[in-house]
Amino acid sequence: MLVILANNRPRRSNVAAARRLCVRLMHPKSPGAWRMTDTLTRERRSWNMSRIRSSNTKPALLVRSTLHGLGYRFRLHARKLPGRPDILLPKYRAAIFVNGCFWHRHTGCRQAYTPKSRTEFWNGKFRENVARDRRNLKELDTLGWRTLTVWECETRDIAALVGRLKAFFQDAERSGREKKKVQEIEECEA
Ligand SMILES: [Zn+2]
Repeated sequence: MLVILANNRPRRSNVAAARRLCVRLMHPKSPGAWRMTDTLTRERRSWNMSRIRSSNTKPALLVRSTLHGLGYRFRLHARKLPGRPDILLPKYRAAIFVNGCFWHRHTGCRQAYTPKSRTEFWNGKFRENVARDRRNLKELDTLGWRTLTVWECETRDIAALVGRLKAFFQDAERSGREKKKVQEIEECEA
């Protein structure tokens, strides 16, 4: 009901939202879940959040709409591949990660700061993240996937992002053509 009072103008959508909220709060199965959330420390909660890799973050959506605008068609939610890439382009055998600068430690980026308290805890977690990312890229490479990491801060400059994406696919096309040529030569010589 807070929603309605704050706006001072009860709209049908606000009423529905408030009703949904009340239902959630009063649901007999929910109190335990709410209490559990409250007992988590803020640090722990944000750490848990970081482990939930979402493909629908704002930077990921920006990369997707940019790719779409450039005419590339792609797939999402590559659950079975190492690191679960955010975007897959099977035609190019390409996988794109859209990484948050803080959690994935974008080198030299302002957003990749280290919190002042419990520095050791954070540094340990960051090391794990970086090592995991590196391992995933290596595994994808072994499986024959070409990878591109787009950093969150890079999605603020769409023109530069377009340039990076184009260069990545030009490269993919060139090496695809070269591979095909080598195959053709090998077939001729065989
Ligand atoms: Zn960055």
